[in-house]
Amino acid sequence: MHAQPKASHYINGAFVEDERGAALDVVYPATAETIARLHLATPNIVELAVEAARAAQPAWAQMKPMERGRILRKAAELVRARNAELARLETLDTGKALQETLVADPASAADALEFFGCAIAVYNGEHIELGGPFGYTRREPLGVTVGIGAWNYPIQIAAWKAAPALAAGNAMIFKPSENTPLTALALAEILTEAGLPAGLFNVVQGAGEVGAALVGHPGVAKVSLTGSVETGKKVMGLAGSQMKHATMELGGKSPILVFDDADVENAVGGAMLGNFYSTGQICSNGTRVFVQKGIYARFLERLTARTRAIRLGDPLDPETHLGPLISAAQRERVLSYIEAGRQEGAHLHLGGGVPSLQGLEKGFFVEPTIFTEVRDDMRIAREEIFGPVMCVFSFETEEEAIARANDTEFGLAAGVFTRDLARAHRVVGRLQAGSCWINAYNLTPVELPFGGVKNSGIGRENALTALDHYSQIKAVYVETGDVESPY
Ligand code: NAD
Repeated sequence: MHAQPKASHYINGAFVEDERGAALDVVYPATAETIARLHLATPNIVELAVEAARAAQPAWAQMKPMERGRILRKAAELVRARNAELARLETLDTGKALQETLVADPASAADALEFFGCAIAVYNGEHIELGGPFGYTRREPLGVTVGIGAWNYPIQIAAWKAAPALAAGNAMIFKPSENTPLTALALAEILTEAGLPAGLFNVVQGAGEVGAALVGHPGVAKVSLTGSVETGKKVMGLAGSQMKHATMELGGKSPILVFDDADVENAVGGAMLGNFYSTGQICSNGTRVFVQKGIYARFLERLTARTRAIRLGDPLDPETHLGPLISAAQRERVLSYIEAGRQEGAHLHLGGGVPSLQGLEKGFFVEPTIFTEVRDDMRIAREEIFGPVMCVFSFETEEEAIARANDTEFGLAAGVFTRDLARAHRVVGRLQAGSCWINAYNLTPVELPFGGVKNSGIGRENALTALDHYSQIKAVYVETGDVESPY
């Protein structure tokens, strides 16, 4: 298996290497095989990227927005045309099943490029009547922006940040997760091919240290992070100390509420998607599934049967549903939570172990796992696990379910399954979460804003609102008469 890019970084429209940077081995999580060898960015690489971005951004900001958008829309076409190749690369980088990456990852990146490539043409300031004089607002770009990604949706995260940033007239330096450095480089090449001038989208590799160097660089105006709450606090703190703009897309422990009148198969399907897709490594996962008493037994029976039918295996096999976790360290973390759940007295209803898969013995697999008899104060009910571990609870009243759902430091997402539409909207209105689904789960079309409240983040990605987060308002007062002055 081989996925070696031409070099580690992409700066000023070309691949760049600096072998003085520490080695970064890229591992295929299904076999632990090394598929590429890169280098972390040195301070020199960080400087080169910021310089290239600063030099390129002013002319880009002057371009007609629709022309900028045309380049992004061309990039969307190229991503779609190369979907199979990009999906395979994403599978090698993340270990996620090809069945998923073929429909979700490059496709979502293309949607963001297309959406912002279109939207920017109609994204304007306002005209404000002042009774004679008038005012208007301009939406101006911020300058050089930094995107920092998590490992679970590498190309999607890169595009969700780059597309609105570039559309609004900014330059971006993107630092992928050190676990998944490959597809951001492919996106950079595609943007160049689509006509993006050199220096506007740069990729530098590195871990937290490189991320912090970028955030703290005086030439950078904004950071958008996708990562854990812990990292978010550090990045937001550093950005805040320099009065820089920041968007934080962080973790969660989201609730799914299943009421007695719900369609059982849909609720089970939603809960499974919200716990096992991408081997549970999704920030918005509904890992606390609250099921009303009257439907609990039937829900658990169908959940168990359908979870047993999940096929784990080689992610490149189109029949495989579930691949491995990203790394040995992440598997240890997930297994230690499963152990903590048992120790604290939850009932391990299904899974919980490491499957034995022929030929994939070195991969980082964990079985899809379901806990029942979980108390709300247990660690598995409170902390983000980021693996395929579902906790199922039962509840009696709507009031109780809402209170328990909201009893968390997080507030990224929430789901409600019911046939009673009045209840669905009433409950959603009271859930403390930035992204909610009614009779669905984990769908994130680019047209809808995405992001969290409480410790799950600040700011939003996607939809027109993302453009607000990559621009600043200038207000202009225009006098149409004389200046009235007492002096
Ligand atoms: P992480 O916080 O460990 O790392 C995220 C990124 O931040 C990486 O690129 C990392 O190198 C970088 N980083 C680490 N320390 C830094 C620092 N001090 N300064 C600047 N950058 C730094 O997260 P992860 O383990 O890669 O990803 C999993 C987490 O991401 C989970 O908590 C998950 O919920 C969250 N996530 C959130 C969303 C969302 O949109 N809300 C999406 C995906 C993942």
